[in-house]
Amino acid sequence: MTSSDKPAILWFRQDLRVDDHPALCAAAANGRAVQPVFILDDAAEGEWVAGGAGRWWLHHSLAALQARLLELGAPLLLRRGAAPDVLVALAQEVGAGSVHCSLRFEPAGTEQEERVRSALAAVGVSFAAHSGALLHDPHALRTGTGVPYKVYTPFAKSLRERIVIGDPLPAPRTVRAVAKSPVGSPLDALGLLPTIDWAGTMRTWWTPGERGAQKRLAAFIAGPVRDYDEARDFPAQDGSSSLSPHMHWGELSPRRVWSDVSRSDAGKSHGASKFLAEILWREFAAHVLLNFPATASQPLRPEFAKFPWQPSCVHLHAWQRGHTGYPIVDAGMRQLWATGWMHNRVRMIVASFLVKHLLQSWQEGARWFWDTLCDADLASNTLGWQWSAGCGADAAPYFRIFNPILQGEKFDPSGDFVRTWVPELAKVPSEFIHQPWEAPPMVLASSGVALGETYPRPIVDHPTARDYALAALQKVSGAKSTTRG
Ligand SMILES: Cc1cc2nc3c(=O)[nH]c(=O)nc-3n(C[C@H](O)[C@H](O)[C@H](O)COP(=O)(O)OP(=O)(O)OC[C@H]3O[C@@H](n4cnc5c(N)ncnc54)[C@H](O)[C@@H]3O)c2cc1C
Repeated sequence: MTSSDKPAILWFRQDLRVDDHPALCAAAANGRAVQPVFILDDAAEGEWVAGGAGRWWLHHSLAALQARLLELGAPLLLRRGAAPDVLVALAQEVGAGSVHCSLRFEPAGTEQEERVRSALAAVGVSFAAHSGALLHDPHALRTGTGVPYKVYTPFAKSLRERIVIGDPLPAPRTVRAVAKSPVGSPLDALGLLPTIDWAGTMRTWWTPGERGAQKRLAAFIAGPVRDYDEARDFPAQDGSSSLSPHMHWGELSPRRVWSDVSRSDAGKSHGASKFLAEILWREFAAHVLLNFPATASQPLRPEFAKFPWQPSCVHLHAWQRGHTGYPIVDAGMRQLWATGWMHNRVRMIVASFLVKHLLQSWQEGARWFWDTLCDADLASNTLGWQWSAGCGADAAPYFRIFNPILQGEKFDPSGDFVRTWVPELAKVPSEFIHQPWEAPPMVLASSGVALGETYPRPIVDHPTARDYALAALQKVSGAKSTTRG
């Protein structure tokens, strides 16, 4: 048997789909038998092992992938342990000549690939890591002076000019299994689900897995995409795609999303064009993390390393639980806790509030998001937090301080988003919903609100907090102040 006749192993990572999957196509080429495997290798993820919401998603996405691969003919094997050891042992068990996987770009993912490559080379098994997670190769793009981009607009311009986005690869109709399937772990034995079931709302919101992802993409293309440019900022509307967890876990390839959106009837609309620009933010995030891997925990702008944070368990806890007394912040934090997702506009508001009003470090916020988001993604989360704190690539200047009252009034004018997630304020008239402390006592009483009892008073006073934040800023940069509504 030549090495090309030997079975191939397809090592699934954050690419839990069969559509547009270059590694799967390469493994199954010429009718070769394939052993698909997913390996839970927590130790390889270092400090960024998937959080609770991510693990919940992963469990269900693996269940969906198991079912899909069974339909195609090659059952998915689940194992836990160090990926190099598991892959070497599995290659010997099934007599594999090659291992294929999709590239990952986080530091832990690339280091893991290197260890796998050398372990397999030592036993004479070839290893190929294929593209598929991104539209572009984040190593390839450089500015005119040959350095990585730190600003989105020229990055996106250069990406659009240089890359040709090819057609997605169709899913194979069948995949030939190896002659004798090895024994793996049952899904439940991976221990991905929480021991206390907090995922009730998540189950009603999401359908993890490739089919759920495809349905959501199709529904977005059939409706909201056309008005995305206007509706995406209003958290009470279904204006954005909610595709982020599906994309993080690779249930949809970015090429599939790009291709289906741009070729749809709405493909030339302003909405579609704005949406595709957001897909390029995802590419930008990966480019920044790959080129500046320390930014997952350190600010890109080094002067911010000495920012005088004021660590407070009380403030951090109030923020995490949605008890700050600022309704738009509390609504967002409760949406996150219940659904494992938060609207982008509200992510910006709550992040700004934590960092600038409460002077808690962006790293604390990023950690909480990491544990509670189904779409927790090291590149996008790092970019989002450093953007909000003013210390990262293309960041909002630190001295622009989001006013949570004005942001609420502008982007949730009817208060419906607040009413959904902060039911104790449901009867407060829209006029006061974003600052209930300004409502006359009669209005509060008739709305069933007793401030400090049924709903907290503001944890900090906005103008005072703003002044503190600006004073802290001046310690690191001496910048001048502005506010933003
Ligand atoms: C503090 C903070 C933390 C964030 N953490 C994450 C995270 O852990 N994971 C994550 O996927 N996104 C993160 N984002 C980016 C953004 O908020 C989410 O991608 C978006 O809200 C997901 O909703 P959607 O799928 O409806 O997005 P849409 O508006 O429909 O956008 C489509 C897709 O484009 C990508 N995208 C959109 N905006 C961004 C962006 N600013 N940066 C990178 N990719 C983007 C996502 O894959 C998204 O699914 C964060 C933003 C902030 C401000």
